[in-house]
Amino acid sequence: MKKEIIKSLGIFALVAGFQANAQEQNHEQNMDNILLAEWTGPYAGVPAFDKMKVELVKPAMLEAMEKHLAEIDEITSNPEPATFENTIVPFEDSGDLLNRVFTYYGIFSSNISSPEFRDVQRELSPEISEYSSKISQNSELFERIKTVFENSEENPLPAPEQRVIDLIYEEFAMEGANLNEEDKKRYAEINSELSELYTKFSNNVLAEEENYIVYLTEDQLSGLPESYIKAAASTAEANGEAGKYAVTNTRSSMDPFLTYSDERELREKVWNNYYSRGDNDDEFDNNEVIKKILKLRDERVELLGYDNFAQWRLQNRMAKNPENAMELMEAVWPAALARVEEEVKDMQAVADSEGANIEIKPWDYRYYAEKVRKEKYDLDSEEVKEYLELGNLTDALFYTAGELFNFEFQPVEEGSVPVFHEDVNVWEVTDKDSGELIGLWYLDPFARQGKRSGAWATTYRSYSELEGAKPVLASNNSNFIKPAPGEPVLVSWDDATTFFHEFGHALHFLAADIKYPTLNSGVRDYTEFQSQLLERWLSTDEVINRYLKHHETGEIIPKELVAKIKKASTFNQGFETTEFLASALMDMKYHTTDPDKIEPREFEKETLYELGMPDEIVMRHRSPHFGHVFSGEGYATGYYGYLWADVLTSDAAEAFAESPGGFYDENMAEKLVKYLFAPRNAMDPAEAYRKFRGRDAKIDALMRDRGFPVPEDK
Ligand SMILES: [Zn+2]
Repeated sequence: MKKEIIKSLGIFALVAGFQANAQEQNHEQNMDNILLAEWTGPYAGVPAFDKMKVELVKPAMLEAMEKHLAEIDEITSNPEPATFENTIVPFEDSGDLLNRVFTYYGIFSSNISSPEFRDVQRELSPEISEYSSKISQNSELFERIKTVFENSEENPLPAPEQRVIDLIYEEFAMEGANLNEEDKKRYAEINSELSELYTKFSNNVLAEEENYIVYLTEDQLSGLPESYIKAAASTAEANGEAGKYAVTNTRSSMDPFLTYSDERELREKVWNNYYSRGDNDDEFDNNEVIKKILKLRDERVELLGYDNFAQWRLQNRMAKNPENAMELMEAVWPAALARVEEEVKDMQAVADSEGANIEIKPWDYRYYAEKVRKEKYDLDSEEVKEYLELGNLTDALFYTAGELFNFEFQPVEEGSVPVFHEDVNVWEVTDKDSGELIGLWYLDPFARQGKRSGAWATTYRSYSELEGAKPVLASNNSNFIKPAPGEPVLVSWDDATTFFHEFGHALHFLAADIKYPTLNSGVRDYTEFQSQLLERWLSTDEVINRYLKHHETGEIIPKELVAKIKKASTFNQGFETTEFLASALMDMKYHTTDPDKIEPREFEKETLYELGMPDEIVMRHRSPHFGHVFSGEGYATGYYGYLWADVLTSDAAEAFAESPGGFYDENMAEKLVKYLFAPRNAMDPAEAYRKFRGRDAKIDALMRDRGFPVPEDK
């Protein structure tokens, strides 16, 4: 018997020894893993984007996660009773290495993805989820946090400290920290399964975007703008189809094609490809993935005692609960539907007058809307584009940031800051008066294979006093079509608006003035507000007169054209509001309905039918490619947040418009920075807004902006 014990101990020792060796090897291999190195160079260190390699990601991530867990262990092994100083401060300070490695991970995932990296992601996804469970389910850590939280209820801490402990405690409680051991185990399993499903979902969508390219021949280009044709030709050539023209299966390619192409059958084909992503009954079909995700989410929040996912999710959002979010959406929905009817009537009239002999279908909407736009508003989007040149627009961003935030942007010295692609440019951001360094701004403007579609902003390093108040490293990423060499980048009014929007996120990062990293966190239905508000500066006279210049002649965009753009801003609001709200309402229905009753394809169809969805419009994001909701959790039951933020945006913009100095009113700008940008999450959003506006937001300005009737008594 004794022998046996010794023997089994021996095996244990052997296994343990082997693991230790493997660990040792891992450490050794990692010694020159650049992803784990301190950031060096100017600006308190910058990421070594020029040296990163896919094969370094996995070992670096594993080691960085291990390091973070060791830091947590140090906190929990402290024999002293838990205090803010010995628990919350070191907790806020931990995970620095992982943040840095994750920056590289984010670039590989969003900007330069590849089949090799997707393998790494698949391999890492269970590891990441296990790591994060080890923190969120760490009962010793939670006990200490709970102690600090409960003590603060007795003896409140100063405002920033109190806000931090409140947010941290709430997050842990929401992630199941109060669960018993058995439930915790299941909770962690669910998270791990979910994270694999999220990765699978988004990879399926990406595959479908890459797999369905429509190649046009010379005789199929009717109606398409010259710039589109050129870009389509060079994309086709890059794909080994020289002499043809590629319509890729992404929004930035599909949208203009449907707007301009005279070839109705091809429009239908491109439309079908795009809106069938993830819904093709093949290996990349996402319907089963959605079902699994919904069931797991429901099971998880049930463990925590919630009726549904939406209820759990919205408790710490500005909306607070699904009912408030639904109420807002339902207040706007009927006005949007009524407008769609008018829009379709206008379009049908154009089609009839052209003798087209058709009934408006979803793949006709953009095409005839553009004709109505030209007829009714005499606004030619291509003419507008001539005045929207990317370099000028970038200067316009800098001007706006200068006026409102007192920031100055200067290009960094060539080669002084490493980038991950030759297209990326970097600017240094300083305070205009004091010259104090604020941070860096990276811009990755062009679409490329492996880059996710759309536009987004991110930080490589955020600001916090606790972490040494280092310069912020913020980035913007777009998918403008790269022009042929020597050609200017001309963008649509919508894309210019998005450019301002994403820059708003970057300014929100750069303007942060907070003490603890947790106070950087975003409140989902609130963080879009700041960026949406910034969009409004694109159409201010100051920006127009300085930067909206013809790319060849330098002539300022004519006043009549601007007036037309402004007038046209209420145009097609039926379409835009409806396609958005359909997605937002579906998102909320998915997460307030018993998942056992959901077959996504049918559920989507039935729900839209019940809502009275017009036949001529499809959801902006159909379920099988609704990445906001199913490739992660950030926007799950959060898509309504754009509208929520729109209400705040319209209301806040009206405050600027009505102030003595208009959009450049100094007093308003000061309040903007002080209450809406700098505090990030250090202040309750509703309270911050009230301080800025002097009252809560009202829906009226939004309805006016969209040209909808303002509801009485609201
Ligand atoms: Zn945004």
